[in-house]
Amino acid sequence: MNNPDKVIVLDRDGVINYDSDDYIRTVDECIPIPGSIEAIAKLYKAGYHVFIATNQSGIGRSYYDIATLTGMHNKLRSLVEKQGGKITGIVYCPHLPTDNCDCRKPKTGLLSQLEKKYHVKLSGHPFIGDSLKDLECAQKFGCQGVLVKTGKGEKTEKENSEVVKRAAVFNDLAHYVNQLIST
Ligand SMILES: [Mg+2]
Ligand SMILES: [Zn+2]
Repeated sequence: MNNPDKVIVLDRDGVINYDSDDYIRTVDECIPIPGSIEAIAKLYKAGYHVFIATNQSGIGRSYYDIATLTGMHNKLRSLVEKQGGKITGIVYCPHLPTDNCDCRKPKTGLLSQLEKKYHVKLSGHPFIGDSLKDLECAQKFGCQGVLVKTGKGEKTEKENSEVVKRAAVFNDLAHYVNQLIST
């Protein structure tokens, strides 16, 4: 893989697209947060491999199926490609919290899956999320946890948690990427 040092992991809901307490169940409900698609394209153009690691327990709850989830991801990929960018890989956890799987964040199985599949090392690299689960996952795996205030981010920022205190906080993905790439 070219530029193995330039890797970044993003959560999906609340970071790239708007989140909903009622789950994102259809392709049409998967609506990008303004600036997020352009930010991913900007990362790509700066040489980054962009990965997405997302909990999708709505699959386990039968709110939508894998074909629909793939449709959402194809939509995000194609929007990014229209801006001249590319998403290298997307992994998801389809399980319920009660399934006790290895991949549902804050567990780190999704990051291990990405490392294995794409032959990259993710520890030491940024992981951008909006929930405590993302930051805990990032910390456990040795990633740099970054909290964005979109999605559940404002609520997460108020949590009295060491993992939140240690995270860098940005208004949204676009602000984070502008800071990352201008430095
Ligand atoms: Mg999220
Ligand atoms: Zn899982």
